[in-house]
Amino acid sequence: MNWEENVRKVIPYTAGEQPNKPGMIKLNTNECPYPPAPGVAGAIQALQSEAFRLYPDPDASELTQALADYYKVKPGQVFVGVGSDDVLAMAFMTFFHSGKPILFPDVTYSFYDVWARLFEIPYQTCPLDENWHIRAKDYKVPNGGVIFPNPNAPTGLEESQETIEEIIKANPDVVVIVDEAYVDFGAESSLPLLDKYENLLVVQTFSKSRAMAGMRIGFAIGNEKLIQYLKDVKFSFNSYTMNYPSQKVGTAAVREEKYFQDTVQRIMDTRERTKERLRQLDFRFPDSKANFIFASHDKVPASQLFHALREANIYVRYWDKPRIHNHLRITIGTEEEMDRLFEFLEKYVRSVENG
Ligand code: PMP
Repeated sequence: MNWEENVRKVIPYTAGEQPNKPGMIKLNTNECPYPPAPGVAGAIQALQSEAFRLYPDPDASELTQALADYYKVKPGQVFVGVGSDDVLAMAFMTFFHSGKPILFPDVTYSFYDVWARLFEIPYQTCPLDENWHIRAKDYKVPNGGVIFPNPNAPTGLEESQETIEEIIKANPDVVVIVDEAYVDFGAESSLPLLDKYENLLVVQTFSKSRAMAGMRIGFAIGNEKLIQYLKDVKFSFNSYTMNYPSQKVGTAAVREEKYFQDTVQRIMDTRERTKERLRQLDFRFPDSKANFIFASHDKVPASQLFHALREANIYVRYWDKPRIHNHLRITIGTEEEMDRLFEFLEKYVRSVENG
C-alpha cells in the first residue's frame, strides 16, 4: 500500500481555453461580448482597499437583497455563490444524497457527471430525442434527483414550461434543479413554478447575460427551507465563498435593469442574424434560445473546421464525444466579430464544398 491508493482520484472538468492573442475572436466560452453595466465600473472605482482588511459578509446580504428585489422573492429564498458552478456543486452535495442515481440528459453541461463522480453520487443519463429535446417520460423512474439546463447546453434548445412542470410534478420526493445559465436570452424562466413546487431549485449566473464571468457570481432561488439546507452545507464547507468586490459589483449590476435588457436584446438580434447566415452556408442547428449556436455541416467535418478556425485566430468550442463530435458550439459575439467569422466561413466552406 502506498499513499496514492488513499487519494481521491477524479477526472476534472475541462473548461474552454482562455487564449489571449492579439486580434483573436473568442467565441468559445459563451462570455458576453459587451462590457458589464456602467454602474459596475463605478462600483469598482468606489472600492477602498482598506475594506479588504475585513472578512466579507458571509451572507452577501446586499447582493442577496438586490436579487430578492429584482426577482420579487424573499431574501431567504436566495443563495449566492462563486459562479453558478459553485452554486451547482453545493446543490449536488446538499440535495443529491439519497444513494439513488440522479438523472440528467446524455447531451448536456459536461460538469454534471464530474460533480456526480466527485461527490460519489450515482447517475444515469437520459438520451435526448432525435431533435435534441428532453423526453419527460425518461424522468418518471425512481431516482435521487434531476438536473438539466434550460435552455440546454450545448444545444441551446429551450424546453417548454409544460415539459419542465411534468418532470417536477412526477418527482415530489427529490429535488429538481433547473440550470438557467442561458435563460435571459429569450427563454422562459421556471421561477413562477416555485409557487407551486417545493422541490424546485432554479440556478442562474452573472457570467453570460450580465457580462461578469470574471467576477464569478451565481445564485439559486428556491423556497426558504430548501435554501436553508443549501446554506447549512455551504457554511459547513467555507463561510466566505464570495469576496467583497464581487458582492459590491454584483449588486451594482442587478440595479441596472435597462442596460441589462438592451445588452441581451443586442445579443439576441445578432443570434437571429447569425442563424440566417449559417443557413445560407448550409449549416444545420437546433433553434437556439441561448447566446450560442450548436452547428454542424454535412460536407465539412466539425473537427476540421474547428482547427481551421483556430488557425485563423477564431476560437469556438468542439467536443470529440459521442453524438456531438460533428458539431461546433459558436458563441454569439459582436456584429463585427460575427462578420469576421462569416468572412472566413464563406471562403472555407465554399472551398471544401467545391472540392
Ligand atoms: N451551467 C451551464 C449550463 C453552463 O454552460 C455554465 C458555463 N460553463 C455554467 C452553468 C457555469 O457558469 P458560471 O460558473 O460561470 O456561472
